[in-house]
Amino acid sequence: MDLNALLHAFTPSWTSVAMLMAFFTYLAIAGSILPGRVVPGATLSDGTRLHYRCNGSLLLILLISLLGVGGWMDLVSPTAIADRGFELLSTTLIFSLFVTLLLYIAGCRSRDQSSSLKPHITGNLIHDWWFGIQLNPQFIGIDLKFFFVRAGMMGWLLINLSVLAKCIQQVNLSVSMILYQIFCVLYILDYFFYEEYMTSTWDIIAERLGFMLVFGDLVWIPFTFSIQGWWLLNNNVELTTAAIIANCLAFLIGYLVFRGANKQKHIFKKNPKALIWGSPPKVIGGKLLASGYWGIARHSNYLGDLLVALSFSLPCGISSPVPYFYPIYLFILLIWRERRDEARCAQKYKEIWAEYRKLVPWRILPYVY
Ligand code: NDP
Repeated sequence: MDLNALLHAFTPSWTSVAMLMAFFTYLAIAGSILPGRVVPGATLSDGTRLHYRCNGSLLLILLISLLGVGGWMDLVSPTAIADRGFELLSTTLIFSLFVTLLLYIAGCRSRDQSSSLKPHITGNLIHDWWFGIQLNPQFIGIDLKFFFVRAGMMGWLLINLSVLAKCIQQVNLSVSMILYQIFCVLYILDYFFYEEYMTSTWDIIAERLGFMLVFGDLVWIPFTFSIQGWWLLNNNVELTTAAIIANCLAFLIGYLVFRGANKQKHIFKKNPKALIWGSPPKVIGGKLLASGYWGIARHSNYLGDLLVALSFSLPCGISSPVPYFYPIYLFILLIWRERRDEARCAQKYKEIWAEYRKLVPWRILPYVY
């Protein structure tokens, strides 16, 4: 592709703006009216708690069904996203810049002193815009942090399905593409099935809403996590049976560790006496779980996620590093995050955390300090 063609491909059109706005409007309206379990979030420093309506699975199933019917009636093209990938990316990036500018202005003007909305201003414009000013900003009653992460995960699936449609259209469907699609669908469906577990994650409880998070949710997740699919659209890979089995095992083991660890922590936070792997949990200072996956290594949930990420790329073989972008990025992110979380927990739990560290010295991977 020459430079002019590339610039043209990235230039947002009104169609891509309309597609993005239709998606957000659907999420806002359907998210507010469809039923779902209302889950209390973490207790904030002022004692308040936000409540999240976890109806993501219903929203996703309805959206896919509507798009399926629309495609069947020739009202929408299944390849619309794959055909406009670059311009949708730039449109979403511009939208993220615009939204975070508004968030910055609204944050600076806020006089609210609640934990959710209290402005945290350092005076450094770039820092405040990047990390955000308020913890839980809202728009027309919608919690934006929860909204954007949901949009990103659904966007990733929509991109994948459109890439799959394009692949079928080009009569180019391979085992690699099928494996990649199945792993991602299972991971994304699982995410929405357990959406309430998101309410106790770092992003929701600790990160303010600035460009870093908005860009991460809206641009990074859907457009970079799908690189393998885009790559497979243009490259053929022959997988041996052994490679397919190894790939499925990597996904399965990664998924079990990832989901198991996150589930154990979530259940523990709700009921510190709940059995872990059939036995009463080992609890430190009444607050920290030191059995199950959390007794094998601190943040073993990150290990599971890394294995799953690797399994998304393995179908692409090893001829190119490009499809490995996601696991490499995730490795760097989770190592950095584990260190940040370690510092946060050391400060929050003090001697209890020191005791936990003594009992469970490994970080992410057993036998790694
Ligand atoms: P965690 O869900 O692991 O949450 C960390 C928090 O859990 C800590 O701050 C602490 O919070 C609590 N905690 C830590 N250890 C213990 C313990 N032993 N017992 C009880 N509570 C404990 O972190 P993340 O939010 O970073 O990750 C959630 C999931 O999301 C992970 O599986 C991760 O891999 C995934 N993820 C995926 C990304 C991607 O791009 N694919 C990006 C980031 C995360 P508290 O103060 O509440 O006790």
